[in-house]
Amino acid sequence: MAGNCVEVAFNKPKVELHVHLDGTIRPETILDVAKKRGIALPTDSAEDLARLCMLCKPATLTEFLCKFHHFMHVIAGDLTPDEVVDLVNRGLRAGENTFRIKARSILCCMRHMPNWSMEVVELCKKYRHSGVVAIDLAGDESLNCEAHPGHRKAFEEAVRSGVHRTVHAGEVGPPSVVKEAVEVLKAERIGHGYRTLEDRTLYEQLLKKNMHFEVCPMSSKLTGACDPDFTKHPLIRFKEDKANYSLNTDDPLIFNTTLDVDYSITQKYMNFTEKEFKRLNINAAKSSFLPEKEKKDLLNRLFDAYGMKKPALKGGTENSRDIQLIMSTHSE
Ligand code: ZN
Repeated sequence: MAGNCVEVAFNKPKVELHVHLDGTIRPETILDVAKKRGIALPTDSAEDLARLCMLCKPATLTEFLCKFHHFMHVIAGDLTPDEVVDLVNRGLRAGENTFRIKARSILCCMRHMPNWSMEVVELCKKYRHSGVVAIDLAGDESLNCEAHPGHRKAFEEAVRSGVHRTVHAGEVGPPSVVKEAVEVLKAERIGHGYRTLEDRTLYEQLLKKNMHFEVCPMSSKLTGACDPDFTKHPLIRFKEDKANYSLNTDDPLIFNTTLDVDYSITQKYMNFTEKEFKRLNINAAKSSFLPEKEKKDLLNRLFDAYGMKKPALKGGTENSRDIQLIMSTHSE
């Protein structure tokens, strides 16, 4: 990937909250699986396959979705949803042990498939002790939940049974989708959320609530969600307002990106500093859906790695202004 030769903007442990497994597969893995299953691909070179799968310039949703057609038939097998969730969790656990990282899964409903959503939340409940931490909703934001009550019912069940919730909203869709995510689906985090800025009242409400925004810089340029000029990115406003947000890759295979690429974009075009990188990662850790004890351990690991004194944490999340204070007492 082009990301391999990027200048590293923040060479410290990072928290990523928003990355889709089907947009994260290595081209080499796709080739291996295709060979094993006897499926012909247009090329047997990993580089050529990567080029086929990646978006190079801002595209439409259809063009973006087309990219998945190059490899999804290779990856999708005849497994049941249960088997998929179980195998993914087992893989993530193996990765956690091998690389000393934390990796948990979020099961994602699709806006155009409201009939699947109840099954998704049931899977979240069934596998909550073996790696699944939350439910999500993604897809075409013009399909609202009023017209598709399946999602609302599933998210209500998630609230009832204590399954965490995040929703893709305000990426391409208007602020009303964000409002619906928060008020109807009871989202605790918003995937993207850039267009929240167009509704000042809503934005201020969410700032006050310390709502977490999962921001994906390279993705937002290539999906056409944001102005391709990074110096005009909504993220700058989030940073200035000390909002609670994280930096994420979304679909690293499709967007030909890595966390280092996304971080370097913010450093190069949005004047991000080491201090802001630390602040946003601590907020990301606090907004993660880990059980409280594990969250605390993760935060302690970050404070150690960042050379910051551990604050006395009063339970769950503290607001970003508290973090500000910590940062200014322990700046590098
Ligand atoms: Zn996403």
